[in-house]
Amino acid sequence: MEQFTAIVLAAGSGKRMNSAIQKQYLLLAGKPVLYYSLKAFEESSVSAIVLVTGAGEEDYCRKEIVAPYGFTKVSAIVPGGKERYHSVFAGLKAADGADYVMIHDGARPFVDADMILRSMETVKQFGACVVGMPVKDTIKVVDDDHFAIETPARQFLWQAQTPQTFTYRAIYDAYEKMLRREDAAITDDAMVFDQITGKHVKMIAGSYRNIKITTPEDMAAAEMYMHGNNG
Ligand code: C5P
Repeated sequence: MEQFTAIVLAAGSGKRMNSAIQKQYLLLAGKPVLYYSLKAFEESSVSAIVLVTGAGEEDYCRKEIVAPYGFTKVSAIVPGGKERYHSVFAGLKAADGADYVMIHDGARPFVDADMILRSMETVKQFGACVVGMPVKDTIKVVDDDHFAIETPARQFLWQAQTPQTFTYRAIYDAYEKMLRREDAAITDDAMVFDQITGKHVKMIAGSYRNIKITTPEDMAAAEMYMHGNNG
């Protein structure tokens, strides 16, 4: 059986949330934001979960989230780094031995069983896949002075979400090469994969609810979605 490991990222400082508590630990319907994605992977067929937290927060996560909620698949809790891509590489190192990795933002609590299952099926066929959705707005490319200089055709534009799923060896090697360059304006894993390997990732539909909690407005939307789901 091929081994899938989920890498759940929770090492961000969450500056845009304007909150004393980092966004992954804020309570959503009474449970920490991070709980929901750990639960989705715990209940999936992944073999292991690597949790990447802020340096020094490993014990807090173990005692306050992993142990009390009984997440038995969490095989490692490792400290992340300055940028998201440093945290991903720390997670990749701890996922050694996996055939495939599913890299997921711990700040996206609405990942679900269906997205995980379809990602697993798709990566086996195409080697790399990313959950996302077609954009609803018209997107403008702007110059330094914020004049709109281009309007890409909307039919070809998707917003990238997570999970982003890859064969382990390919994404590990791509990250290792990219980090050696240190020129990185890297915002997701698919960028690293296609820039280094020259291969394209397959996009699969996630959900417009699969938001990344970034600002207080996102928290309000997430509460609304939660209550909609429960009632
Ligand atoms: O900062 P951003 O919203 O893009 O973060 C996306 C995800 O990556 C979050 O789950 C966050 O905790 C994680 N992250 C990380 N290490 C960083 C920055 C972000 O694990 N240095």
